Amino acid sequence: MPADRPPADPMGMALDEARAAAARGEVPVGAVLLGPDGSVLARDGNRVEAAQDAGAHAEMLVMRAAARRLGSPRLTGCTLVVTLEPCPMCAAAAVHFRVGRILFGAYDPKGGGVEHGPRLLARPDCLHRPEWVGGVREREAGDLLRGFFQALRR
Ligand SMILES: [Zn+2]
Repeated sequence: MPADRPPADPMGMALDEARAAAARGEVPVGAVLLGPDGSVLARDGNRVEAAQDAGAHAEMLVMRAAARRLGSPRLTGCTLVVTLEPCPMCAAAAVHFRVGRILFGAYDPKGGGVEHGPRLLARPDCLHRPEWVGGVREREAGDLLRGFFQALRR
């Protein structure tokens, strides 16, 4: 299946999902879940409004979908790619799902849980510690969010 091939630019794919979320009236955050071989297991954007579910963040949706697809609750060796620093809920879920690595775009000083707030993954009592890299295509991801909230205030 062509869609499952390793994407050349997984953050670009996540940004596409964020734009699609904005078009649906959702906060523009997109995520992609890559398998250990780099293939795309799931991709989605926020669906909080559509699902009437405050937990329907892009990260939660792709981790759940990838786990269903793999037939396992553990995403060992998988990479979560997301346009915004995960919040504490999503960071904790990445620990529970045993995600291997997290790449995120914009930093979120107010709502983030990786480099900000509880800094969950850096805690010594963290059961499983995904590696993480922040600031990947940070400006594009941040511009999308800023544009969305500016439009709301208008
Ligand atoms: Zn979240």
